Amino acid sequence: MAKVSCPKCGSKRMKLHVPQTSIWKCEKCGYQGPVFIEDGNIEKQLKESKKMEKLQKKMLRGR
Ligand SMILES: [Zn+2]
Repeated sequence: MAKVSCPKCGSKRMKLHVPQTSIWKCEKCGYQGPVFIEDGNIEKQLKESKKMEKLQKKMLRGR
């Protein structure tokens, strides 16, 4: 799991609020929004999320 911390209060108690859009919610201060993921590999993560998007679209079409 990637380490995610709140950009507002720095809390690590973050929950993925909307998985498809990578909107996170902070359980401590209530911040909702995109979060910088401390992984050092943003490009790879972007590629992966795009792959997931395509997969989800395919799955929706398959019905
Ligand atoms: Zn916070």
